[in-house]
Amino acid sequence: MPQQLTDRRDQDFVIWEQMNCEEILKHGMYREFNKKTCDMIINEARTLAIRELLPILAEGDQQGVRFEDGTVKVPDSFHRVYKLIQEGEWNNLGVPQEMGGQGAPAFVGAAGAEYFLGANWALYCYATMGNGTAHIINLYGTPEQKEKYVHKLTAAEWGGTMLLTESEAGSDVGALTTTAVRNSDGTFSLTGNKIFITNGEHDLAENIIHPVLARIEGDPPGTKGISLFLVPKYFVNDDGSLGDRNDIVCSGVEEKHGIHASATCSMTLGSKGKCIGYLLGAERQGMKIMFNMINHARMSTGLQAMAYASSAYLLAVNYARERIQGRDLENFMDHGAPSVPIIRHPDVRRNLLWMKSHIDGMRSFFYYMTRCASQALITDAAEEQEKFGDLFSMLTPIVKDYMAVKGHEVCIQAIQVYGGAGYTRDYLVEQYARDCKITSIYEGTSGIQAMDLLARKIGMKKGLVFMNFLGEIQKTAAQAKAVEALKDIGVKVEKTAGRLGEIALHIGKMAMSPDFKVAFAHALPFLYAMGDVIMAWMLLWRAVVACEKLAATPKKKDIAFYEGQIKTAEFFISTELPLTSGKLDSIEGGCAAAIEISDEGFGGL
Ligand SMILES: Cc1cc2nc3c(=O)[nH]c(=O)nc-3n(C[C@H](O)[C@H](O)[C@H](O)COP(=O)(O)OP(=O)(O)OC[C@H]3O[C@@H](n4cnc5c(N)ncnc54)[C@H](O)[C@@H]3O)c2cc1C
Repeated sequence: MPQQLTDRRDQDFVIWEQMNCEEILKHGMYREFNKKTCDMIINEARTLAIRELLPILAEGDQQGVRFEDGTVKVPDSFHRVYKLIQEGEWNNLGVPQEMGGQGAPAFVGAAGAEYFLGANWALYCYATMGNGTAHIINLYGTPEQKEKYVHKLTAAEWGGTMLLTESEAGSDVGALTTTAVRNSDGTFSLTGNKIFITNGEHDLAENIIHPVLARIEGDPPGTKGISLFLVPKYFVNDDGSLGDRNDIVCSGVEEKHGIHASATCSMTLGSKGKCIGYLLGAERQGMKIMFNMINHARMSTGLQAMAYASSAYLLAVNYARERIQGRDLENFMDHGAPSVPIIRHPDVRRNLLWMKSHIDGMRSFFYYMTRCASQALITDAAEEQEKFGDLFSMLTPIVKDYMAVKGHEVCIQAIQVYGGAGYTRDYLVEQYARDCKITSIYEGTSGIQAMDLLARKIGMKKGLVFMNFLGEIQKTAAQAKAVEALKDIGVKVEKTAGRLGEIALHIGKMAMSPDFKVAFAHALPFLYAMGDVIMAWMLLWRAVVACEKLAATPKKKDIAFYEGQIKTAEFFISTELPLTSGKLDSIEGGCAAAIEISDEGFGGL
């Protein structure tokens, strides 16, 4: 039976053999989990995703959401499976137990999510978005707010959202105009319009708790003057029962390129002057508080893209094994030779390996990030906490945007493998490509991630965090150089990582010089070059582990898997990494054309 959604063997390899997550399980916090229970949970998640969520993926896309008189109806088939997710408590796998979750380590949460996101992101998002809302309430809420909302949200009885965007305040959140006026009882009356709000209204949960960014009357402009308010759709009485309807309504849903089953809502607050919000945390700390949610959402968005890519790749590779077309190149002149599966054609093989190398690299990268997060959480040593926390923070924009963009490219290439069939709606690869595009737009576009990396992240702690990161890559390169079969590619990774370090310094200096605009015009290529180097590192690391396993006489069925790891690393490092060196050269060249060209020079006038 071909693998679907996620290659289970590969996931196992990353979790247990590469990232050695058994070490994390030794911590007392995870005493209820061991390798066996984790494997069991992941298997169950996979079964539910394949049996229940995946079969309604295309149906959800075709039916989409329906806006009727202020209400939003999700695809009919979603209701039953939403209940199944809730009953199995799959919606809060990685949520801490004190918040009502299962308390599974981050890697188990990610492993389950890989299946659920690939099977039906829109449905899983309805069931899990409340966890982010609960997280910030748990961090900043009053005891009463925690009591009222957290458990209901993590149980997916109530939905959660995040209301930042307005028509004049997209990437520039600080430009928002939603206002909050202080009431005598300590509550606030909100007025404003938000757009593009995921899950802003739907019929899967009995209540929705909206965290809303708004400016208290008289507070300064920009992000510094923004506060965060909890705006429940239905007021919650002191005994936990639902009260009257609050004055926040959905005024429409978007017709979109993809993710048709996900409700993207315009929300009107206070059209009757009765939208009541409750301050969360301190006044004017709204952005800081919201960033706890945003950073989490950025990680989830990277995972979403990877899950689409992984699902599309597995469909494509299995299609390539079955689709018979054309003669093998070695029989090209022999018209009587049989046609072969397209996986035998060199160009199809190249494309499949390109896809596989990116997915493998991204999967390892994502679990590396979850390992950093867990290490920061479980260590008592302040120095370690800081080291892993900083690494996590520096690499977040790369998870977000590199995985979004490469994940989308993988989906597009999956269509290519299918040929004409891939361009039709008969095959899921077409939907995956449409659905994936959003990942480089929401939660901060590509350009915004690149600015974050250049302006805030690579210079963190005077460049020390970046140097530590390079040090980790060089450790893997040294291990590879000690293995005859990997020496060559180990040297290539070592050299390119060194070069990345030089260019980081160069672009960092440029960003603080009068040429700062030129630096920012190269920020996104820099993000992609850094992402490529991370892919090379992860694949080399996989190859080092694979060589160790092969030397220890593995089971017969594992030999092709481990040898595949070495070939994948060889492919990426020898065919993609030279392009990365070219990108790094071009950044160093500091071409200023994009800045110097006049607005009229772009043409089209
Ligand atoms: C399906 C969907 C779901 C969404 N869900 C939510 C949600 O739940 N909650 C929410 O609050 N928002 C949500 N959004 C909004 C989303 O986060 C924004 O669309 C996104 O942040 C970009 O803002 P914008 O659309 O206004 O584009 P703009 O900000 O107008 O950007 C347009 C282009 O200009 C670039 N750009 C803008 N400013 C800069 C700059 N300073 N430097 C460099 N480049 C720049 C951008 O990179 C982009 O390419 C959603 C959007 C969609 C489409």
